[in-house]
Amino acid sequence: MPHSKNRSDAEVAVPNTPPGEAEPDPKSRRSFIRAGSLGVTSVALAATGVASVNESVASESSPAATRPRSAPLAVTPACSGHETPAATEGPLFKPESPERTNFITPAITGVYLRLRGVVYDTACKPLPDCLIEFWQCDQNGDYDTAGFSLRGHQRTTARGTYELETIIPRDYWGRWGKRAPHIHTQVQAPGGPILVTQLYFPDDTKAYGRDFAALNARDRLLNRACTITLESLGTGRYAGTFDFVISTTA
Ligand code: FE
Repeated sequence: MPHSKNRSDAEVAVPNTPPGEAEPDPKSRRSFIRAGSLGVTSVALAATGVASVNESVASESSPAATRPRSAPLAVTPACSGHETPAATEGPLFKPESPERTNFITPAITGVYLRLRGVVYDTACKPLPDCLIEFWQCDQNGDYDTAGFSLRGHQRTTARGTYELETIIPRDYWGRWGKRAPHIHTQVQAPGGPILVTQLYFPDDTKAYGRDFAALNARDRLLNRACTITLESLGTGRYAGTFDFVISTTA
Protein backbone atom coordinates (compact mmCIF):
# COMPACT_ATOMS: atom_id res chain seq x y z
CA MET A 1 0.00 0.00 0.00
CA PRO A 2 1.73 3.21 -1.07
CA HIS A 3 1.80 5.99 1.44
CA SER A 4 3.59 9.25 1.68
CA LYS A 5 6.22 9.84 4.29
CA ASN A 6 6.17 12.87 6.50
CA ARG A 7 9.65 14.19 7.10
CA SER A 8 8.66 17.39 8.89
CA ASP A 9 8.57 15.39 12.10
CA ALA A 10 10.24 12.15 11.17
CA GLU A 11 13.48 13.15 9.58
CA VAL A 12 16.20 10.87 8.31
CA ALA A 13 17.69 8.72 11.03
CA VAL A 14 21.29 9.55 11.85
CA PRO A 15 23.98 7.76 13.86
CA ASN A 16 23.85 8.07 17.60
CA THR A 17 26.03 10.24 19.70
CA PRO A 18 27.45 8.79 22.94
CA PRO A 19 24.99 8.37 25.78
CA GLY A 20 24.00 11.51 27.63
CA GLU A 21 23.52 11.91 31.32
CA ALA A 22 22.47 8.80 33.11
CA GLU A 23 18.87 8.77 34.17
CA PRO A 24 17.44 7.00 37.18
CA ASP A 25 16.48 3.42 36.76
CA PRO A 26 12.86 2.88 35.79
CA LYS A 27 10.56 2.06 38.66
CA SER A 28 9.78 -1.57 38.75
CA ARG A 29 6.17 -2.34 37.94
CA ARG A 30 6.46 -5.82 39.34
CA SER A 31 5.59 -6.82 42.84
CA PHE A 32 7.61 -9.15 44.95
CA ILE A 33 6.45 -11.30 47.77
CA ARG A 34 8.76 -12.21 50.62
CA ALA A 35 7.63 -15.68 51.46
CA GLY A 36 10.69 -17.51 52.73
CA SER A 37 10.85 -16.05 56.24
CA LEU A 38 7.18 -16.82 56.78
CA GLY A 39 7.50 -20.42 55.81
CA VAL A 40 4.96 -19.87 53.11
CA THR A 41 5.34 -22.38 50.34
CA SER A 42 2.61 -21.37 48.01
CA VAL A 43 1.33 -18.00 46.99
CA ALA A 44 -1.37 -17.66 44.41
CA LEU A 45 -1.98 -14.46 42.56
CA ALA A 46 -5.59 -14.15 41.60
CA ALA A 47 -6.52 -12.57 38.30
CA THR A 48 -7.30 -9.36 40.14
CA GLY A 49 -3.74 -9.12 41.42
CA VAL A 50 -4.80 -9.79 45.01
CA ALA A 51 -2.63 -12.31 46.76
CA SER A 52 -3.95 -15.21 48.75
CA VAL A 53 -1.83 -17.50 50.90
CA ASN A 54 -1.99 -21.12 51.91
CA GLU A 55 -2.26 -20.27 55.59
CA SER A 56 -2.00 -23.84 56.74
CA VAL A 57 1.73 -23.80 56.08
CA ALA A 58 2.47 -20.50 57.82
CA SER A 59 4.33 -20.90 61.10
CA GLU A 60 2.42 -19.85 64.22
CA SER A 61 5.57 -18.18 65.49
CA SER A 62 5.96 -16.13 62.35
CA PRO A 63 5.02 -12.45 62.08
CA ALA A 64 2.03 -13.56 60.08
CA ALA A 65 0.54 -15.07 63.22
CA THR A 66 0.00 -11.61 64.71
CA ARG A 67 -2.09 -10.55 61.76
CA PRO A 68 -5.79 -11.38 61.50
CA ARG A 69 -6.03 -14.55 59.50
CA SER A 70 -8.42 -12.93 57.05
CA ALA A 71 -6.11 -10.01 56.30
CA PRO A 72 -4.40 -10.13 52.91
CA LEU A 73 -0.66 -9.91 52.63
CA ALA A 74 0.55 -6.37 52.13
CA VAL A 75 1.83 -6.84 48.62
CA THR A 76 2.20 -4.18 46.00
CA PRO A 77 -0.50 -4.76 43.42
CA ALA A 78 0.31 -4.84 39.73
CA CYS A 79 -1.72 -1.67 39.48
CA SER A 80 -0.29 1.13 41.60
CA GLY A 81 -3.35 3.34 41.31
CA HIS A 82 -1.12 6.16 40.10
CA GLU A 83 -2.34 7.64 36.86
CA THR A 84 -0.15 6.94 33.83
CA PRO A 85 1.75 10.16 33.10
CA ALA A 86 0.60 12.23 30.14
CA ALA A 87 2.87 13.33 27.31
CA THR A 88 2.62 15.63 24.34
CA GLU A 89 0.46 14.41 21.49
CA GLY A 90 2.88 15.53 18.80
CA PRO A 91 1.90 16.86 15.39
CA LEU A 92 1.08 13.62 13.62
CA PHE A 93 -2.08 12.31 15.23
CA LYS A 94 -4.82 11.60 12.68
CA PRO A 95 -8.44 11.15 13.75
CA GLU A 96 -10.74 8.49 12.38
CA SER A 97 -8.19 5.70 12.29
CA PRO A 98 -9.45 2.20 11.51
CA GLU A 99 -10.49 -0.14 14.31
CA ARG A 100 -7.93 -2.94 14.43
CA THR A 101 -5.54 -4.80 16.67
CA ASN A 102 -2.94 -5.73 14.06
CA PHE A 103 -0.75 -3.17 12.29
CA ILE A 104 1.37 -5.70 10.39
CA THR A 105 1.18 -5.40 6.59
CA PRO A 106 3.67 -6.41 3.85
CA ALA A 107 5.22 -2.94 4.04
CA ILE A 108 5.82 -3.19 7.77
CA THR A 109 8.99 -5.20 8.15
CA GLY A 110 10.34 -4.07 11.49
CA VAL A 111 10.98 -5.94 14.73
CA TYR A 112 7.74 -7.65 15.73
CA LEU A 113 6.04 -6.52 18.93
CA ARG A 114 2.96 -8.03 20.54
CA LEU A 115 1.86 -5.46 23.08
CA ARG A 116 -0.66 -6.40 25.76
CA GLY A 117 -1.99 -4.84 28.89
CA VAL A 118 -4.88 -3.79 31.06
CA VAL A 119 -6.52 -0.42 31.48
CA TYR A 120 -7.34 0.29 35.14
CA ASP A 121 -9.05 3.12 36.95
CA THR A 122 -7.29 4.73 39.91
CA ALA A 123 -8.92 2.17 42.22
CA CYS A 124 -7.21 -0.54 40.12
CA LYS A 125 -10.47 -1.80 38.69
CA PRO A 126 -10.11 -3.03 35.08
CA LEU A 127 -12.03 -0.84 32.69
CA PRO A 128 -13.96 -2.45 29.82
CA ASP A 129 -14.90 -0.61 26.65
CA CYS A 130 -12.11 1.97 26.87
CA LEU A 131 -11.05 3.52 23.60
CA ILE A 132 -7.33 3.09 22.90
CA GLU A 133 -5.66 4.78 19.97
CA PHE A 134 -2.14 3.88 18.83
CA TRP A 135 0.01 5.60 16.21
CA GLN A 136 3.71 5.25 15.51
CA CYS A 137 6.43 5.48 12.89
CA ASP A 138 7.75 2.51 10.94
CA GLN A 139 11.07 0.68 10.78
CA ASN A 140 12.60 3.67 8.96
CA GLY A 141 11.35 6.35 11.35
CA ASP A 142 8.59 7.50 9.00
CA TYR A 143 4.99 8.27 9.88
CA ASP A 144 2.23 7.63 7.37
CA THR A 145 0.37 10.93 7.09
CA ALA A 146 -1.52 10.15 3.88
CA GLY A 147 -3.01 6.86 5.03
CA PHE A 148 -3.36 4.90 8.22
CA SER A 149 -0.39 2.57 8.22
CA LEU A 150 0.61 1.90 11.84
CA ARG A 151 -2.46 3.74 13.08
CA GLY A 152 -5.55 2.29 14.64
CA HIS A 153 -7.92 2.18 17.57
CA GLN A 154 -9.56 -0.55 19.58
CA ARG A 155 -11.69 -1.02 22.69
CA THR A 156 -10.71 -2.88 25.82
CA THR A 157 -12.39 -6.21 26.47
CA ALA A 158 -14.83 -6.96 29.29
CA ARG A 159 -11.75 -7.63 31.45
CA GLY A 160 -10.15 -4.32 30.56
CA THR A 161 -7.47 -5.90 28.38
CA TYR A 162 -6.07 -4.89 25.02
CA GLU A 163 -3.64 -6.40 22.53
CA LEU A 164 -1.81 -4.86 19.60
CA GLU A 165 0.38 -6.59 17.04
CA THR A 166 2.84 -4.11 15.61
CA ILE A 167 6.56 -3.42 15.32
CA ILE A 168 9.05 -1.58 17.45
CA PRO A 169 9.29 1.85 15.85
CA ARG A 170 12.62 3.41 14.97
CA ASP A 171 14.18 6.56 16.38
CA TYR A 172 13.94 9.77 14.35
CA TRP A 173 14.68 13.46 14.37
CA GLY A 174 11.64 15.58 15.17
CA ARG A 175 10.71 19.01 16.40
CA TRP A 176 11.90 18.06 19.90
CA GLY A 177 15.23 16.78 18.64
CA LYS A 178 16.27 13.15 18.53
CA ARG A 179 13.37 10.94 19.59
CA ALA A 180 13.86 7.53 21.13
CA PRO A 181 11.57 4.85 19.73
CA HIS A 182 8.07 5.40 21.11
CA ILE A 183 4.42 4.59 20.47
CA HIS A 184 1.90 7.40 20.73
CA THR A 185 -1.22 6.45 22.64
CA GLN A 186 -4.55 7.87 23.71
CA VAL A 187 -6.74 6.11 26.26
CA GLN A 188 -10.25 7.10 27.30
CA ALA A 189 -12.84 5.43 29.50
CA PRO A 190 -16.45 5.91 28.37
CA GLY A 191 -17.36 9.48 29.25
CA GLY A 192 -13.95 10.13 30.81
CA PRO A 193 -11.06 12.45 29.95
CA ILE A 194 -8.52 11.46 27.32
CA LEU A 195 -5.06 10.41 28.47
CA VAL A 196 -2.51 11.28 25.79
CA THR A 197 0.87 9.70 26.33
CA GLN A 198 3.82 7.92 24.73
CA LEU A 199 5.26 4.48 25.48
CA TYR A 200 8.99 3.72 25.42
CA PHE A 201 11.31 0.73 25.31
CA PRO A 202 13.87 -0.62 27.79
CA ASP A 203 17.55 0.29 27.43
CA ASP A 204 18.47 -3.28 26.46
CA THR A 205 16.01 -3.53 23.56
CA LYS A 206 17.62 -4.99 20.45
CA ALA A 207 16.22 -3.52 17.24
CA TYR A 208 17.68 -2.04 14.07
CA GLY A 209 21.19 -2.14 15.53
CA ARG A 210 20.35 0.92 17.62
CA ASP A 211 21.62 1.79 21.08
CA PHE A 212 18.36 2.16 23.00
CA ALA A 213 20.14 3.21 26.19
CA ALA A 214 21.74 6.14 24.38
CA LEU A 215 18.55 7.02 22.55
CA ASN A 216 16.51 6.95 25.75
CA ALA A 217 19.10 9.00 27.62
CA ARG A 218 19.04 11.87 25.14
CA ASP A 219 15.28 12.03 24.51
CA ARG A 220 14.00 15.17 26.26
CA LEU A 221 10.40 13.94 26.30
CA LEU A 222 11.05 10.44 27.60
CA ASN A 223 9.33 9.37 30.82
CA ARG A 224 10.71 6.17 32.34
CA ALA A 225 7.36 5.50 34.00
CA CYS A 226 6.01 4.85 30.52
CA THR A 227 8.46 2.08 29.65
CA ILE A 228 7.02 -1.10 28.17
CA THR A 229 8.09 -4.32 29.89
CA LEU A 230 9.66 -6.47 27.17
CA GLU A 231 10.17 -10.20 26.90
CA SER A 232 11.94 -11.83 23.97
CA LEU A 233 9.95 -14.17 21.78
CA GLY A 234 13.10 -15.15 19.90
CA THR A 235 15.32 -13.27 17.50
CA GLY A 236 13.64 -10.15 16.22
CA ARG A 237 10.40 -10.72 18.11
CA TYR A 238 9.17 -9.29 21.39
CA ALA A 239 6.21 -9.53 23.72
CA GLY A 240 5.52 -6.27 25.53
CA THR A 241 3.33 -5.41 28.48
CA PHE A 242 2.05 -2.05 29.56
CA ASP A 243 -0.86 -1.38 31.92
CA PHE A 244 -2.55 2.01 31.92
CA VAL A 245 -4.12 3.70 34.93
CA ILE A 246 -6.52 6.43 33.92
CA SER A 247 -9.00 8.81 35.47
CA THR A 248 -12.64 8.12 34.66
CA THR A 249 -13.93 11.55 35.62
CA ALA A 250 -13.00 14.96 34.27
FE1 FE B 1 6.50 10.46 17.47
